[in-house]
Amino acid sequence: MIYRGSCHCKSVEFEIESDLSFIRQCNCSICIRKNAKMAIIAKENFQLLKGSESLSLYQFNKNIAKHYFCKKCGIYTHHNTRSDETKMGVNLGCIENIDPLSFVSELADGKKLS
Ligand SMILES: [Zn+2]
Repeated sequence: MIYRGSCHCKSVEFEIESDLSFIRQCNCSICIRKNAKMAIIAKENFQLLKGSESLSLYQFNKNIAKHYFCKKCGIYTHHNTRSDETKMGVNLGCIENIDPLSFVSELADGKKLS
C-alpha cells in the first residue's frame, strides 16, 4: 500500500510504501519525549514529495541517527535509525487516512542506547 503523510502545516509531504504491520514505540531519550508511534519501513520505501527545505535535522549522542522535524510546525515526521541504517521510522500520526491510535505498537528498547 502507498500511504501519504505530512507534517501539521503541510510544508513537508511524503509517501511511504508499507503494509503498516511493523509499528513500534521506543523508550530512548528522544522517543520517550516525542511519544510517537512509528512505522518501521525500508529506507527505499520512503519518498519525500516536498519540503526538504522545511526539514530540520536533530542529532545527538553518536550522531548516527537522523531525526527530522518541520521547522515551522515542529512536528517530527521521520528518522533514519541508528541500529539499522537500511530502515527508517515514520511518525504514524503523520500518515493520512488511517487511525493511528488503533494501531498496537511493540516496544523498541532504545533506552540503553541513549
Ligand atoms: Zn510543518
